[in-house]
Amino acid sequence: MGKDTELFIVLPCFNEEEILPSSAGKMRDLLHRLVEAGTVGQGSRLLFVDDGSKDRTWELIEELHQTDPSCGGIRLSRNRGHQIAIFSGMTYAVEHGADCVITIDADLQQDIRKIPEFLSRYEEGCDIVYGIRKSRDSDRFLKKTTATAYYKLMHMLGCGLIEQSADYRLLSARAVKALSSYGESNLFIRGLVPELGFKSGTVYFDVNEREAGQSKYTVKKMLTLAFDGITSFSIQPIRWVIGLGFFVFIISVVMMIVTLIDHIRGVTVPGWSTLTISIWFLGSVQLLSLGVIGEYVGRTYMEAKKRPRYFLSDETGLGDGGRGHD
Ligand code: UDP
Ligand code: MG
Repeated sequence: MGKDTELFIVLPCFNEEEILPSSAGKMRDLLHRLVEAGTVGQGSRLLFVDDGSKDRTWELIEELHQTDPSCGGIRLSRNRGHQIAIFSGMTYAVEHGADCVITIDADLQQDIRKIPEFLSRYEEGCDIVYGIRKSRDSDRFLKKTTATAYYKLMHMLGCGLIEQSADYRLLSARAVKALSSYGESNLFIRGLVPELGFKSGTVYFDVNEREAGQSKYTVKKMLTLAFDGITSFSIQPIRWVIGLGFFVFIISVVMMIVTLIDHIRGVTVPGWSTLTISIWFLGSVQLLSLGVIGEYVGRTYMEAKKRPRYFLSDETGLGDGGRGHD
């Protein structure tokens, strides 16, 4: 703990040439202060992940590395999106000696003064420290309402997302290793982290306005992220098809009775009863069958992910069973 803890701070960057110099400056100051105070070890690093930028982001990262060896970077061969960028950074950090990793956006919209708080939670034994945003005041109305609705929807679908948790978090090396053992290529880190278990803590932070450059999260990227979240955690939508099938089946029974009564009373044209009953009945049978097939497809999908079954968080060792030593 303390000065033996090697901290890596991972910053994903996609076309961030405008803000990178100022962000890097602030982060370097912070890191050096932490090292000097003995809060983290000498080997602590800033790790910039260039997510296939088209501008001068990578040149800037290289320059930074030249002037300050405590800053390093990796570059993805093409733009793979924020989630993969932070995942690659965390894995790289742990492979290169990190004891814990903090991820934060390169525009530093999240309050970096909270980093020591993340570290104290880690020292208290937390493997996961969630950053939770206090308010969404800095967001535009649309983003605020859609984000809140999305968290509600995810809960309804049975995914244990932590409310208002952002990708500003600390993971211990073993939590990162656990996360890497998830075999799925479609990574929704926000949903996977709570699945890991381990002791966790929270830190509340404020979000500031972006100081330079534009948001790199286009509406398309945001929608993809939202959809990935739903489809990678839930086969609930398939169950809705079965539910709909049952509902239509009940209607079909009601329709059958109504049509038969009309038939007996003789108020129908010939052929109408058979047609109406068939349409409703067949419709419900088809929906139900689709739902059943969907259920199997859904299970195959979940199995195909080959998710790890469990992680150990502690062990006592087995002792020698009273047999004593030689
Ligand atoms: N980002 C990335 N790859 C992408 C899109 C974004 O690595 O394809 C990074 C971006 O450089 C930033 C972080 O993800 O560090 C968050 O993006 P941004 O600040 O644009 O999103 P917003 O704060 O508007 O939600
Ligand atoms: Mg931002």
